[in-house]
Amino acid sequence: MEELIQLKEIKKYFPWKKYKYVKAVDGVSLSINKRDIFGLVGESGSGKTTLGRMMIHLIDSTSGSIFYKGKDITKIKKLEKNLRRNMQIVFQDPYSSLHPRKKIKDIIGSGLRTHNLVRSEGELVTKIEQFLNLVGMGEEHLYRYPHELSGGQRQRIAIARALILNPEFVVLDEPTSSLDVSVQAEILNLLKKLREEFDLTYVFITHDLYLARIITEKIAIMYLGKIMEYGDTESIFKNPLHPYTEALFSVIPKLDPQKRTKKIILKGEIPSPFDPPLGCRFHTRCMKKIGEICEKVSPPLKEVEEKHFVSCHLYD
Ligand code: SF4
Repeated sequence: MEELIQLKEIKKYFPWKKYKYVKAVDGVSLSINKRDIFGLVGESGSGKTTLGRMMIHLIDSTSGSIFYKGKDITKIKKLEKNLRRNMQIVFQDPYSSLHPRKKIKDIIGSGLRTHNLVRSEGELVTKIEQFLNLVGMGEEHLYRYPHELSGGQRQRIAIARALILNPEFVVLDEPTSSLDVSVQAEILNLLKKLREEFDLTYVFITHDLYLARIITEKIAIMYLGKIMEYGDTESIFKNPLHPYTEALFSVIPKLDPQKRTKKIILKGEIPSPFDPPLGCRFHTRCMKKIGEICEKVSPPLKEVEEKHFVSCHLYD
């Protein structure tokens, strides 16, 4: 499989008052192959959205490297037009991500104009109509405003706006979390269909493990700016190895009584990213803590099974 993106020890510290930092992402390394649907999963404050945005150069990293097709994009101040076109994002909230005073035609077509990808107004309209049809909408929506559409339709417009530029890599930042369950399924099916049609690579950011299992092929479980576990989705769901992943999975409702396990309720709150715990980030809430080593030494991410990486001293 051809590698598309590789992250090496990537960090993002947001300055906060004098001498203080929010350590949103703190030393993440992983790689994403072409045509992967890669899930970044975690609670709010885990750093998943910041990491997704750094991958497409929407925000700068503090240190580390992000190689996109072998080129370190952290060294570039502003992405070349081609690279920018190749990397797109669909935001979580279709209500705020579309300009309220622009018609759908202008919202979807603005990228085509900016990148000089059409030569005439006729070509622009034809291309927009083609993409409206692809996302299950029609010409009748061309001259409507976002407030005239439903939530699901708006998210379809956001997807059409991202894909019309013919990208290779799309970050989907909780793209269905503000939608009803029935609409969520439609959007997920649409995203899968478009991935096949355009040979896309997705990073799918979510806090919802159920969705992650349905759509992703690989996942990284994040906690307080670090990866706790990462590998093939099925292998992690069948055999979660990190105590945090185990706790998260234990509360997913299961229909089959044979598969029900005891719920693990984590104690305490997620610590502040201003002052994350030393050693293992999870030690303040871990039910399997071994002792001092967990409080003092940060566990490295180790390949415990084939292509299944875990950051925990239980596997030292
Ligand atoms: Fe728990 Fe220790 Fe493993 Fe951290 S390193 S998850 S505290 S057992």
